[in-house]
Amino acid sequence: MMSIPDYFGSMVFDDRAMKESLPQGIYESLKRTVEMGQPLDISVANAVAFAMKSWAVERGATHYTHWFQPLTGITAEKHDSFIAKGDGKVIMEFSGKELIKGEPDASSFPSGGLRATFEARGYTVWDPTSYAFIKDKTLCIPTAFCSYSGEALDKKTPLLRSMEAINREALRVLKLMGYEDVKRVTPSVGPEQEYFLIDKDVYEQRPDLIFTGRTLFGAKPPKGQELDDHYFGSIKPRVAEYMAELNEELWKHGVYAKTEHNEVAPAQHELAPIFTPVNISTDHNQLTMELMKKIALKHGMVCLLAEKPFSGVNGSGKHNNWSLSTDTGLNLLSPGETPADNELFLIFLTAVIKAVDEYQDLLRLSVATAGNDHRLGANEAPPAIVSMFIGDELDAVLDAIESSKHYSGSERKEMAFGVASLPKFLRDTTDRNRTSPFAFTGNKFEFRMVGSSDSIACANIMINSAVAWELKGFADKLETAKDFDKALHRLIKEAIKEHRRIVFNGNGYDESWVKEAENRGLLNLRTTADAMPKLLDKKNTNMLTSMGVFTMPELNSRCEIMLDNYSSTIVIEGSTMLYMTRKEILPAVEEYMAELARCMSMKEGLLMSISTRSEEEVLRRLSKLSDDIFDGADELENAMNHIPCEDIFKKSAYMRDEILPRMESLRKAVDNAEVITAKEYWPYPDYGDILYSVK
Ligand code: ADP
Ligand code: MG
Repeated sequence: MMSIPDYFGSMVFDDRAMKESLPQGIYESLKRTVEMGQPLDISVANAVAFAMKSWAVERGATHYTHWFQPLTGITAEKHDSFIAKGDGKVIMEFSGKELIKGEPDASSFPSGGLRATFEARGYTVWDPTSYAFIKDKTLCIPTAFCSYSGEALDKKTPLLRSMEAINREALRVLKLMGYEDVKRVTPSVGPEQEYFLIDKDVYEQRPDLIFTGRTLFGAKPPKGQELDDHYFGSIKPRVAEYMAELNEELWKHGVYAKTEHNEVAPAQHELAPIFTPVNISTDHNQLTMELMKKIALKHGMVCLLAEKPFSGVNGSGKHNNWSLSTDTGLNLLSPGETPADNELFLIFLTAVIKAVDEYQDLLRLSVATAGNDHRLGANEAPPAIVSMFIGDELDAVLDAIESSKHYSGSERKEMAFGVASLPKFLRDTTDRNRTSPFAFTGNKFEFRMVGSSDSIACANIMINSAVAWELKGFADKLETAKDFDKALHRLIKEAIKEHRRIVFNGNGYDESWVKEAENRGLLNLRTTADAMPKLLDKKNTNMLTSMGVFTMPELNSRCEIMLDNYSSTIVIEGSTMLYMTRKEILPAVEEYMAELARCMSMKEGLLMSISTRSEEEVLRRLSKLSDDIFDGADELENAMNHIPCEDIFKKSAYMRDEILPRMESLRKAVDNAEVITAKEYWPYPDYGDILYSVK
């Protein structure tokens, strides 16, 4: 058997493969592009393409594709084979030009008005910072995707731009702090991915799962997650086999899959990789989701990535662990051991606090989808209100700074808090807070609002850009300061004073927090329809365009696409509900009622004066519910027939105010009917059947 180090990354044209197959000069110049962001020469591209092709063909690849992430969120690929006509025979060919640039027929990807239909051309451009890999006999080349006029049509391009922005501004701050040797600052991310595994057989019997990825009906099972016995529980053999194959595939693809365990809900699991630079973790997370789904099918299961596949049961998210590291090996969010380190840490911490407070709306909208709206604010997920947890010890440090007092940790010696030296403190030792949307966890921040099916790109674009913006503000001030130490101290103190309201170390699931957050003036953007329009607020467009992350047309198009996506998702869900209700649920309930009525009249025919009370009562209740179901379906349909289509903002607000509540009340009637209908009459596997389907 091969050991993991033997096959790890065997499907990736990674550093080792490049070193082995490229002439040294070419290798070095490619490395400079990857590590330092230097432009790439076409002669280098030709040499790389040649080596890449030989490497891929040796491993059985017949095709290549430019692999990219359009705004739909899924990853797109268009396969071309390597074959070309040679001298009377077939040869395998792949040029630098083909490596660098592709022209997929882009007209069917959403562009939100960026690419007029007559100008269907869009380009994919090789992103040499992310390694190419082989999947299904195809060499996949990670690329960015843009329109003819250069506007980004994907999530990768703005992500790379946001990495540039934070690198640029962080370097300025580092230089001022005396860290002249640092050449590059990179945001690192480790996304923890939650998912459900259910049996393929039950999946195929549920049109809602097939069409929408989540259940639109379903009464609570007798046993849910009340006992917490699934979390970290032992993994069932069938799931273990799945995880083993998934890990092996991920390792072959260079993904550092590290931890796996059961999650809170029955049938729910989690996979966490070791953190990498955020462009790589974004690609890897896309690949992970794809492989999760594909490998599940091989094992007769279906992997559900929807944020809230089951109502009343824990939803799935992605914990986006984010930090900043330098090429010299520093983690800028690590409190460190010496006051000098702490000074550096404090300025970066302050920048993050300020960024999260000022751009709460951008963080919220970066994770806004119709699916994730069902999860945020339900009792197991971070609420839709953005706040930060920093722990008691750091909180005490902030107290001290704010009031210019000495900081004295409870068991630690008091440190002088002067102008020149900020307080020394150790890594926080208090309990983890699991309810905070944005929690400091020792040397990184964990943004927990990201939905399980979403790309992590959007969230990280916003975090990177907002923090870059704050660092820029700091650098601008500090660069012109007469007394640097004094200016630094004042800057930290003022920022903390002004933005302290975003810090909340209490229980985010608590009802009282909603009120308290309101008093603090924090935003509570409950739905995508509420959050997304904020993208176009002046303060946000100003920040994102001046950081060079988006152009104005790109922002307009993104807002439109995301709102359109929200509305379309809800339309599909509403239509699926109507289909299920009318074609299967009502007929089933009616059949069961007929059975009850038959039973009653048979009993009465016996002339034995036997009680028919229970049949009668069930029949009465079901009869009332089936009327409610019938009316509920009509009302939903009626509302769906009047969706305003001319204005995307109006349309999404209508979805929120008119469609979703009607879906909700139809569901209520159906779920109540399910509870009192005989199982053999109910047309679908119920929650218990689904959640415990993997034995
Ligand atoms: P948990 O949050 O479940 O206790 P860990 O703290 O070990 O688990 O890490 C969770 C995720 O955070 C992993 O993907 C890990 O690689 C990532 N991580 C750890 N340190 C950092 C860091 N400095 N920057 C970014 N991600 C990190
Ligand atoms: Mg975690």
